[in-house]
Amino acid sequence: MTNHDRERHFNFSPGPAALPLPVLEQIQADMLCLPDAGASILEVSHRSKAYIEIQEAAKQSLIRLLKIPTDYDVLFLQGGARLQFSMVPLNLLRDSSKTAAYVVTGSWGKYALAEAKKEGDAVAVFDAKATNYDRLPTAIELSQATAKTGKDPAYVHITSNETIQGVQFLSDPACDYPLVCDCSSDFLCRPIDVTKYGILYACAQKNAGPAGVTVVIIRKDLMAGASEKLPGYLRYANHSENDSMWNTPPTFAIYTLGLVAKWLENEVGGLAKMLDHNSYKAKMLYDTIDQTPELYIPHAQKNSRSLMNATFRFPNEQIEEQFLSGAKKHKLDSLKGHRSVGGIRASIYNAMPIEGVKTLVSYMQDFAKTNS
Ligand code: PMP
Repeated sequence: MTNHDRERHFNFSPGPAALPLPVLEQIQADMLCLPDAGASILEVSHRSKAYIEIQEAAKQSLIRLLKIPTDYDVLFLQGGARLQFSMVPLNLLRDSSKTAAYVVTGSWGKYALAEAKKEGDAVAVFDAKATNYDRLPTAIELSQATAKTGKDPAYVHITSNETIQGVQFLSDPACDYPLVCDCSSDFLCRPIDVTKYGILYACAQKNAGPAGVTVVIIRKDLMAGASEKLPGYLRYANHSENDSMWNTPPTFAIYTLGLVAKWLENEVGGLAKMLDHNSYKAKMLYDTIDQTPELYIPHAQKNSRSLMNATFRFPNEQIEEQFLSGAKKHKLDSLKGHRSVGGIRASIYNAMPIEGVKTLVSYMQDFAKTNS
């Protein structure tokens, strides 16, 4: 057997992303056999008592963390956030005479709108394209946006955190219509007021677990209107009526998500504490960027900056390459920005330890000394 290096680096990947170390350790401890189950999580039936308890505990943990009211259901689905780009309009827009209003603040909002257009009348009521997706709408722009459809929209769609551009809503927008939110890359990063939303959906592989499960938090009345003729998997009501076991759920991903939620509750101390940590880490990083703006050129406008994905560029690609190869030597991984935007993207999700951001910031300060 070759002797591979197994040292863990600081992982700034945008997703799948770093998981909390205690969660990985728990998985390791459970891997050969879950307590009192006689087999591992990878081997037990989704109908077994052991698994049903795991899935229910994960759901209850999310309900406690996000204070999810009883008129909402929490679904564990597959197909990633991309399938939600289609399921939302399939369930809320198809066969209706209404319009769906999309607030487009970056790439993912654009992709969501493109899928909705296949199902009905979907329009962008705000699009930050003119400034290359570096900002959120102002409160006034947002309130004017829905009026632009000229009729009551079936729903208004936002992307709370644009993973590629690094712009984030840090409060829950008021909306007179069902607000649907793709919160894939900032799920569980702060407390939110669930009652402001009709649907929240998030793929797990950034802030909540491994790839393979997507959480959908949906107000129950919004499930009723969908056609019975939809393919079964695509109808929210089928999943709700069957406790997310209409078909075999992604058992390992849900188990891991449950461990992450438990970590947030018991070790972090809840989402307000998580927000404190996230704000501290992001401030450290943005302060460093702002100290040398001629070298580290930030993408997002200051009041739209994401706590999860910090994006910046260099004056030229040669410096960027030097920065990335130096980072690798400091065991700072996956900092390269998305191919559509370029530059650097440091994803500092919940599981990125403060130590990781400190190491990055100290590397950036040293790099600035020799390159500016
Ligand atoms: N929305 C956002 C905000 C994302 O960041 C991503 C993944 N990067 C997606 C949607 C798509 O998620 P998936 O690959 O799970 O379909």
